[in-house]
Amino acid sequence: MTTAPPDGAREDQHPHSAELYERACRVIPGGVSSPVRAFRAVGGTPLFIARAAGAQVVDADGRSYLDFVGSWGPLIAGHAHPAVIAAVTQALTRGTTYGAPCAAEVELAERVVASYPAAEQVRFVSSGTEAVMSAIRVARAFTARDLIVKFAGCYHGHADHLLVAAGSGLATFGKPSSAGVPAAFTACTRVLPLDDEAGVAQLFEREGANIAAVIIEPVPANHGLLPQRPEFLQALRRITREHGALLVFDEVISGFRLARGGAAELLGIAPDLATFGKVIGGGMPVGAFGGARRIMARLAPDGDTYQAGTLSGNPVAMTAGLATLDLLVRESGWQRLEARGAELERLLQPVLAKAPFPVHLVRLGSLFWLSFHEAGAPRTAATLTEREIARYAALFHGMLDRGVYLPPSAYEACFLSLAHTATDLTRFTSALGASLAAIA
Ligand SMILES: *Cc1c(COP(=O)(O)O)cnc(C)c1O
Repeated sequence: MTTAPPDGAREDQHPHSAELYERACRVIPGGVSSPVRAFRAVGGTPLFIARAAGAQVVDADGRSYLDFVGSWGPLIAGHAHPAVIAAVTQALTRGTTYGAPCAAEVELAERVVASYPAAEQVRFVSSGTEAVMSAIRVARAFTARDLIVKFAGCYHGHADHLLVAAGSGLATFGKPSSAGVPAAFTACTRVLPLDDEAGVAQLFEREGANIAAVIIEPVPANHGLLPQRPEFLQALRRITREHGALLVFDEVISGFRLARGGAAELLGIAPDLATFGKVIGGGMPVGAFGGARRIMARLAPDGDTYQAGTLSGNPVAMTAGLATLDLLVRESGWQRLEARGAELERLLQPVLAKAPFPVHLVRLGSLFWLSFHEAGAPRTAATLTEREIARYAALFHGMLDRGVYLPPSAYEACFLSLAHTATDLTRFTSALGASLAAIA
């Protein structure tokens, strides 16, 4: 079996990326602005991207790749979609930030409220991390309780109190949790396994009176893709309600991707609060959180819960989000993405059946994950063995050599966009077949 090349082994093929990486490592820790970008789990030099359009990214050495990372979720319309670029370009000529309210944020808020019934009001921030931080704060204020329940394998951004058993970034580096987070900060966080109603019920029996909120990715997509049984999510809804705790859906990935109304729409479950990011910003830095008016009323300036941001509701970013949502509605985006996902699934079945070792496809709409777990696709945050990780690393490089860019970690989901054509899916499938055969 081929294993991952050691760091730098492929520098000859990517001299410009290698040179940039060397410069970056001198001035940026690990040479990257976000850890999973560093290729540590697959070996080799990270590609520096020079430009991108549609489903293609082009690296600093001029090589093109069919992209299934999609900037980790935002680019549901593909890279540099003409409608988004035109709207953003127009917005830029009117200034980049005002530090005052603007029409675009009202329009985007109206769009969110109309799409996501559980969000009667919404507030914008600049990242998913901030959205979750703020939602947790308002949940604690509203309930006058301190405890937060999260699930192992779910990622909710990098705020201190949620950085426990937090998905791919930490799993990739074999760390359950981060240094620099005082034990006191996570003392109010409880972590439970996914897929286990009894565990939730037991915790609520013990500590229910102190639990402010249960937060979950309704479709966990940060430790591979771990679709949950609807009964489990229904149980969360029931138990939180019984105990006066809030249910928070972290829809930073699933929101506006799986359906117009996110995972909440697919599941038919209304959370008390929801967080958004990625798609809602159309490739610009945007996060949002929303919920019932009576909860959101706790926020300053009306309420006693402080939350703010210099660039929140940024006019350019709001415009990118609006253009993206318009496009999804106008082009029946969600139906088309589902059709494309189904087509990919059909194409992949015979290839995966012939794979020299078990590979399972997990898919929901435009989100998919190639699970390298020999035992099958898990429903909880299971750890991959060294052998399984080495196989993924070999696949990753096999695909890269064939011009396909996959996430550089076996724990990351892949993203389809409206820019992926039938031809792209066929190309992906044959590259996958060839790459898997080469690993055997
Ligand atoms: C990406 C992500 C976040 C964090 O968003 P950032 O914009 O990276 O801060 C939070 N929750 C989920 C579910 C995510 O996938």
